[in-house]
Amino acid sequence: MTPEERQAFEEELYTFVGRPLHPEPKRSYDAVNEAMIRHWAEVMGDKNPAYTNAEWAASSRRGELIAPPAMMYAWNQEGYAVAAEGRPSDGLSDLVAYFDQHGFTGSLGTNVDQEFFAEAKIGDALFEDAIIEEISEQKVTARGRGYFLQTLAKFTNQSGELIGTQRFRVFKFIPPEAPPKAAASGASEELEVPTRIHAPRGQDNGWWWDACDEGKVLIQRCKNCQTLRHPPRPMCGECQSTDWDSVQSTLDGEIFSFVEMHYPKFPGYKYPLIVAVISLAEGTRIISNVVGIDSQDVKIGMKVKGKVEQVDEKTMLPQFYPVEA
Ligand SMILES: [Zn+2]
Repeated sequence: MTPEERQAFEEELYTFVGRPLHPEPKRSYDAVNEAMIRHWAEVMGDKNPAYTNAEWAASSRRGELIAPPAMMYAWNQEGYAVAAEGRPSDGLSDLVAYFDQHGFTGSLGTNVDQEFFAEAKIGDALFEDAIIEEISEQKVTARGRGYFLQTLAKFTNQSGELIGTQRFRVFKFIPPEAPPKAAASGASEELEVPTRIHAPRGQDNGWWWDACDEGKVLIQRCKNCQTLRHPPRPMCGECQSTDWDSVQSTLDGEIFSFVEMHYPKFPGYKYPLIVAVISLAEGTRIISNVVGIDSQDVKIGMKVKGKVEQVDEKTMLPQFYPVEA
């Protein structure tokens, strides 16, 4: 984009600010009702009796059941089948199309902020009135160059009382160019390996990854009954003890089962990609990759030996190689 093109693009872009998403406030498909609330509460594991126990609610300060505030946005949403067929165009889809036409085809939802002002009660109809509230100036992020756009939806009931607001922020950006394909001439220039998605490290598994960074594969062992377990988790499945220590695996193993992953191809992995369940000599199993072998030669029962290796700029992982017979 030349500076002139960018100026013309932005001039029209900022005319979207303030536009409504719907020609008139969008009414909830169903009145607020006990069945949908119960389903939502079950799925979310929310046991608050204010939502589902009519008797309890009757004796509460409110005197009646209320809808979980976080359900606010659910009442006005199309079902999955309708959404999959394509929603009718609205203020937001027009803006997204405008971005897409100019190369800003990447989309990343970044924040949702909800504020609640009143409770929705059984029988209420909720009306969603939404606008494009804000479009940022052009920003350069790790994802690429683009703009943050923010919608503001206000939800009111049939009496016009404000139930809550929701701000939704999306980054629309120009995705970085795909790395060039290796020349077919046999030029062996090593392509830069993109970083894989990192495994989250929490209290229950951080220790395992920290050891892996030092080149060791540890297997968790129950201190009470000595049962090995992998992947790491807080409690023994045999005796429910939460006391554990670990042993270091020799990474001698055997292929218990495997698949060759074809689709979808994830950045950071080399294809053909063999994903295998490896029976370790210690007596437990681990899911890992088998490398250093033609994918057609991989067989169940094959002896393998693991090595902890750096697979991208930031990731150490065990990989298993065939053991020469
Ligand atoms: Zn145990």
